[in-house]
Amino acid sequence: MAREIGPVWVFVEQCGGNVLPVSYELVGKGRELADELGTSLEAVLLGDSVTGLAGELFRGGVDRLYVGDDVLLKYYQPEMYVPMIVDLARERKPEIFLVGSTACGKELAPLVAARLKTGISAHCIDLALDGNRLLEQIIPAYGGLISIVCPEMRPQMATIAKGVFALPGPAGRHGTGELVELAVPQAEPMKTELLEVVYEEAAGLTLDSAATIVAGGAGAKDAAGWRMVEVLADELGAALGATRPPVDEGWIELDRMIGQSGKMVTPDFYIGVGLSGELQHMVGIVGAKLMVAINNDPKAPVFDQVDYGLVDDCQEFLPVLIAKIRQFKQGKTAA
Ligand SMILES: Cc1cc2nc3c(=O)[nH]c(=O)nc-3n(C[C@H](O)[C@H](O)[C@H](O)COP(=O)(O)OP(=O)(O)OC[C@H]3O[C@@H](n4cnc5c(N)ncnc54)[C@H](O)[C@@H]3O)c2cc1C
Repeated sequence: MAREIGPVWVFVEQCGGNVLPVSYELVGKGRELADELGTSLEAVLLGDSVTGLAGELFRGGVDRLYVGDDVLLKYYQPEMYVPMIVDLARERKPEIFLVGSTACGKELAPLVAARLKTGISAHCIDLALDGNRLLEQIIPAYGGLISIVCPEMRPQMATIAKGVFALPGPAGRHGTGELVELAVPQAEPMKTELLEVVYEEAAGLTLDSAATIVAGGAGAKDAAGWRMVEVLADELGAALGATRPPVDEGWIELDRMIGQSGKMVTPDFYIGVGLSGELQHMVGIVGAKLMVAINNDPKAPVFDQVDYGLVDDCQEFLPVLIAKIRQFKQGKTAA
């Protein structure tokens, strides 16, 4: 007898009472998967005064929303969130569970997976169903893309970054849904105490919204070389991004890393400076419209993946390019 297929689940993350864009994107993808499997789309939302967010989630395609609405859930606390989600999952037996690759999601999802004794794929860059209706969790690895499936255990779990999937389209038939209020455990004293929440001000242009992005790589060589990449970004009014090595070197913050385990970006114009074109970085810029790379190795794989390539030493080329841009801008001001 064919096994009954459970619902598709999405964890809806909120901050300050607003649903994060990645959660809406996962609702859109979750809807597609649920339709293909002939099952329902359910979502779990935990927070304080968040029940009012239900309407927007139903419009996005959620059939049933589980809401834990309590001051104790205002901020993500694994000790509160994980057992609530695990208990509910044991009861509802979801087929698939999608979680955003956010700071919270990256911790929450594996904790839930471990307790449910199921598998999880982190930082997926696509999801699909295979011929056996198993979730193909697609990640870059071994110099290409590979598909991971979880044939036995349930739910099939994946984390996905913002920007991988589009926001759900217009409501259509999924305008309403069922709201289920979750009981929130009150008694248990927690081992961790939340002392303070500090909202970080984004310095400079953010990668999420920038029309132009300059991304630097290991080819910048040192802090002085990196400074030139920064100046280029400044002169172009671009947001600054990076591959993994500049982050490891401490030249730039982790939240500026583009790629599989960083940000997915969709600028109109992307310039990659001194980076090789490794898949883990390039998957983060698949949405860019026009791409240029500067690299001193004519055989660098990045040249096969961009629209225009410049073979040159960035230490020599960048000062010239920056001077030309300044000259051009001055000419425009004078005219
Ligand atoms: C699970 C996993 C997840 C990962 N996630 C990410 C991710 O999200 N984002 C990410 O970026 N990486 C990620 N990585 C790392 C990734 O695999 C690569 O190691 C990284 O992207 C390489 O960065 P790079 O191109 O700057 O460095 P390299 O590969 O070392 O390339 C440096 C390039 O600079 C060129 N160069 C050197 N000197 C000069 C010069 N003077 N002028 C011009 N060009 C020069 C070289 O020819 C070379 O092509 C991940 C890896 C793993 C295993």
